Amino acid sequence: MSDSVDAPPRVLVVEDDRDVGSGLAGALALDGYEVRWARTSADAARLVGDRVPDLILLDLGLPDGDGLELCASIRERSAEVVVVVVTARTDEADAVRALDGGADDFVMKPFRPVELRARLRAHLRRRGDTGPPELSAGPVRLDQRARRAWVGGREIELRPKEHELLAVLVAAAGEAVRREHLMDVVWDEHWSRSTKTLDVHVASVRRKLADAGDRWDRIATLRGYGYRFETD
Ligand code: CA
Repeated sequence: MSDSVDAPPRVLVVEDDRDVGSGLAGALALDGYEVRWARTSADAARLVGDRVPDLILLDLGLPDGDGLELCASIRERSAEVVVVVVTARTDEADAVRALDGGADDFVMKPFRPVELRARLRAHLRRRGDTGPPELSAGPVRLDQRARRAWVGGREIELRPKEHELLAVLVAAAGEAVRREHLMDVVWDEHWSRSTKTLDVHVASVRRKLADAGDRWDRIATLRGYGYRFETD
């Protein structure tokens, strides 16, 4: 969390490749972010330990450790930080594991810097969005300002993208919502689609609702279309 609304968002770039890392850190600093750059998993853990940033751009291929483990430990420390994983195109399975382990989004190398920066902007902008302060449907209630969620009075802990996803579905409770619409609103409209990101997040939200005692099929799958939040 930023200390005040005027403080520039803090971004941590975790990337061992000197050219990619310095290029990204430099470009993001020019975009107005407060940027730190870690080249190893150990450096990243230390910097996050000092102060949790608003967004972490995490290369999974680090010289001194497993980016997936780092991702999980970052997520344990903060439910609020946005984690965007960067991975080689051949490692989509790793990216999906990272999403399961707490990442909010992933990008494949090679990426176009201008697109990546647009995507980070979108992530950070949405973080500040409050939308309607309260949303509820069926047993689910969301406090958008506090970023808290309850199922039948029992609080559940949602990651940022899970919260946004559930908010869109709850706001449209009883109505079908297209997959493309969810990707556009919760992720980024100008980014090449990977529906795995959406699938993993829906699965995780379903699990959390069910763990809190709600029905497994609260979020119904509409084959070839999208999802619907059931109100009954
Ligand atoms: Ca690397």
